[in-house]
Amino acid sequence: MQTSRGRRRAAGPSPTPRVVEVISAERPRDPHREARRRRGPFRQITEFASASGIGQKAGIALAATGLVLTVTVPSTSPVMATSTTDVVPAVAAQPAQQPEISAEAGARIDFSRSAVVTKADPDGKLKQLLSAQSAGAVSRAASVGSLGAPLASLTMVSPFGYRVSPITGGYGDFHRGEDFAAQCGTSVLAAATGTVTFVGWHDFGGGNRVVIDHGNGLETTYNHLSGFNAQEGQTVGRGDVIAYSGTTGASTGCHLHFEVQVNGEVVDPTGWL
Ligand SMILES: [Zn+2]
Repeated sequence: MQTSRGRRRAAGPSPTPRVVEVISAERPRDPHREARRRRGPFRQITEFASASGIGQKAGIALAATGLVLTVTVPSTSPVMATSTTDVVPAVAAQPAQQPEISAEAGARIDFSRSAVVTKADPDGKLKQLLSAQSAGAVSRAASVGSLGAPLASLTMVSPFGYRVSPITGGYGDFHRGEDFAAQCGTSVLAAATGTVTFVGWHDFGGGNRVVIDHGNGLETTYNHLSGFNAQEGQTVGRGDVIAYSGTTGASTGCHLHFEVQVNGEVVDPTGWL
């Protein structure tokens, strides 16, 4: 087994940052070594950071701040500095040995953030999500919080997904939405601005049901209702009272069964609320 010293190049300015040698010394049998060598130094740093267990984000942060240079300094082992006070003198003392590593080195760091949701435009985040892409392409991290609560007070009593059926008692019942506690007659609120596309009886257990289309493949449904406060074709705003909770259809008691559909398929509402 070769040491890092044995692998180091003898002399002359190397176009390849020495961190590569550290990587290969740690992982001598890495089949992707040559491919990685051809990549930019920033990518190597982030991969090293990832392989070292400190994570991709930490690697990016290190590279962006220059702290990553510490991994190239040790001559015998890839010891990571433990604080910035260890780092700065080392970098200053050996400027000639620093590889050209910076955030400009081909790195595309995405610091974008979801739009700030203001009180004046609570649909802002959802609009931005859906205008940029179909609802099916939205990541869970981006979608969380983009829909408003369908009740003034949300207490989840049965989650989305497979469960023991409250109707049949059988196991493996797929629960297509999320159930929230609500006394019969509680106001049910539109989760976001949209067009009401269905108001009526759902033949497959939903009982009295309202469906709102929010555009770009995103729909919400409200089920087991005792009454309606919206009409098909109506445009509703986020938080508008569209119906009243009940226990119609396949229901064992007053509650709201709330669904989120993306391109016609139900998804876990917790990913959007
Ligand atoms: Zn339900």
